[in-house]
Amino acid sequence: MRRSPDELAKMRRAGRVVAEIHEATRAAIAPGVTTARLNEVAAEVLERRGARSNFLGYHGFPAVICTSPNAMIVHGIPGDYTLVEGDIISVDCGAIVEGYHGDAAYTAGVGAIDAASARLLEVTERSLWAGIAQLVAGHRLHEVGRAVQEVAEAAGYSVVREYVGHAIGTAMHETPQVPNYWPGTPGPTLKTGMVFAIEPMVNIGAPDTYVLEDGWGVMTADGSRSAHFEHTVAVTDEGPEVFTIL
Ligand code: MG
Ligand code: MG
Repeated sequence: MRRSPDELAKMRRAGRVVAEIHEATRAAIAPGVTTARLNEVAAEVLERRGARSNFLGYHGFPAVICTSPNAMIVHGIPGDYTLVEGDIISVDCGAIVEGYHGDAAYTAGVGAIDAASARLLEVTERSLWAGIAQLVAGHRLHEVGRAVQEVAEAAGYSVVREYVGHAIGTAMHETPQVPNYWPGTPGPTLKTGMVFAIEPMVNIGAPDTYVLEDGWGVMTADGSRSAHFEHTVAVTDEGPEVFTIL
């Protein structure tokens, strides 16, 4: 659906809070830090900014961020896991401001990481920006996934099929979905005022996944590392506007 300028202003504010959570959690990532600590850092930002979490309580999710290390793709529950040098860690979070949602994710290295992991992060983030570049009025939504897939697969990686991006507004997950691959049928035509969370999940190995016994953490079936980058982005007359960036 198309958001009014007033709604977009609220989403811009929600996006800014999410970007501030990214900045604060990134600064806290280091060997020896638990994922529970990253969750505390995020909760402090939400509190300070007077924003609500759209993750806490979502289908019973117990935290304000998802933390997904190494072969975990998405939806990890923060807890006792202690970061070690060489890990990669995905942090996904959101915020609600005046009823409007922001949602974004990044993957970062913990200390020095190997070249294969660094390349995975670089390619996945580049695939996100290739997808974002397609959010232009008059384009079709499936061009986003096609662009993401092209970048990821050209690098020899695979994109996850079971989890996708989404429209966002007064709920975190609105329709339509935004697959990170060519879905087989053309998507809707993009119009000014539409807002989407674009979020490639890219695996070094095969795209197959499984869910941990906790019902949340999504893993690569082959144990290969996975990265996840996401922004909340509006279609505007001037092109894509990324809300979840400082
Ligand atoms: Mg997210
Ligand atoms: Mg999302």
